[in-house]
Amino acid sequence: MLIKFLGGVREVGRSAIYLAGREKRLLLDAGVMLSGRQVKYPMHIPPREVDGIIVTHAHLDHVGAAPIFFISGVRESFLTSLTAPLAKLILLDFIRVSKETVPFEVLEVDRFISKSRKLGYQEEFSRNGFKLVFLSAGHTPGGGQVLLELDGRRVLYTGDINTIETTLLKGAYTDYPPVDIAIVESTYANKNHPPREEVEASFVRKLSETVERGGIALVPAFGLGRSQEVITILAKHDFPHNVYYDGMARTVTEILFDFPEWLSNPDLLEKAAKQVTWITTQRQREGALKRPGVIVTPAGMLQGGPVNFYLKEVGKSDRNLIAFVSYQVEGTPGRLLLEKKIVTVDGKLAKVKAEVKHFELSSHSGKDQLEELISRIKAEKTFIVHGDSDNCEKLAEYARNRLGLDAVAPELGESYTV
Ligand SMILES: [Zn+2]
Ligand SMILES: [Zn+2]
Repeated sequence: MLIKFLGGVREVGRSAIYLAGREKRLLLDAGVMLSGRQVKYPMHIPPREVDGIIVTHAHLDHVGAAPIFFISGVRESFLTSLTAPLAKLILLDFIRVSKETVPFEVLEVDRFISKSRKLGYQEEFSRNGFKLVFLSAGHTPGGGQVLLELDGRRVLYTGDINTIETTLLKGAYTDYPPVDIAIVESTYANKNHPPREEVEASFVRKLSETVERGGIALVPAFGLGRSQEVITILAKHDFPHNVYYDGMARTVTEILFDFPEWLSNPDLLEKAAKQVTWITTQRQREGALKRPGVIVTPAGMLQGGPVNFYLKEVGKSDRNLIAFVSYQVEGTPGRLLLEKKIVTVDGKLAKVKAEVKHFELSSHSGKDQLEELISRIKAEKTFIVHGDSDNCEKLAEYARNRLGLDAVAPELGESYTV
């Protein structure tokens, strides 16, 4: 079969992998990359050459381009039953926020989601020698690794993966059967995360300190996954101060209540959701800035969303804190703020006075966990994707030199016959 890497290689964003066997031609993820105001898409592939699309999870870098393939008719799509409503929500929001640049409409999102096969974890879909199973990935609620059989060979695509348990999700399923071809992410191939408990404790401590000195702690967090984890951490530690919760996180949280068995601790999420103050109007936003407290809001890398409104005010005082909780992709406003303490306010660059910190509450596996993962999978052919160029190369090198695997970090547009 042929594998062609259309995006998400030696970069984080616009993940798209084309897999063409004798019977079926599939796309594994179809994401976009948001860099500044620009939206980047995967390399072109004629939709008529794609029979089906398999989407690992509802982050835009994996699902943002999928509806394009539903402009001229309907093809098969596969997601987990929880990814389906989340993907719909996120794609509709994407259209709303960036109307002019998105090359599809609500109709295509509807076609993509309503016609999709919705599977549970470990529920097998099988037809004419093609088999597909989603395994839990520990990265987002509903997110799955893809295990498929095509032309008699077994392919594993990890998507984004976290092998350790968090306050929101259980660690990824890693009890793999023998695999011929593996495609593995490498976001954190260069770095180990400190123990989770310690990071959680220091995160909560820092937020308390900020509120107690009369400041506001702004936590930019993705509406799906990260923001629910933040509020569950605070609930777990009985955080005594005001917590405001803004953006689409609310709708996401309501969807999650319908899927409690997909979470590691649904009761904790319920407790957390009761304790926070939900924000839906501009007036409430202004109100939240008037008193000390914590504001959890999208977007996680400051690419739009209510966070930019808050930033203007929060950035002005050194009593305040901006606490990042996820990976900041190169070229994003989040990365610029984290590295240089600079933000764009009303079109101009401005220095931020507030304290800026990053807490390693990652939803991606760290270095040792990734190395352990590929040695567990031990595929005859291993492709390393979804990481900065150095990280992809580093993990591929480890797989070659230490594990003796045939491993590569593919370049954009490269194809392989396997
Ligand atoms: Zn993701
Ligand atoms: Zn991703």
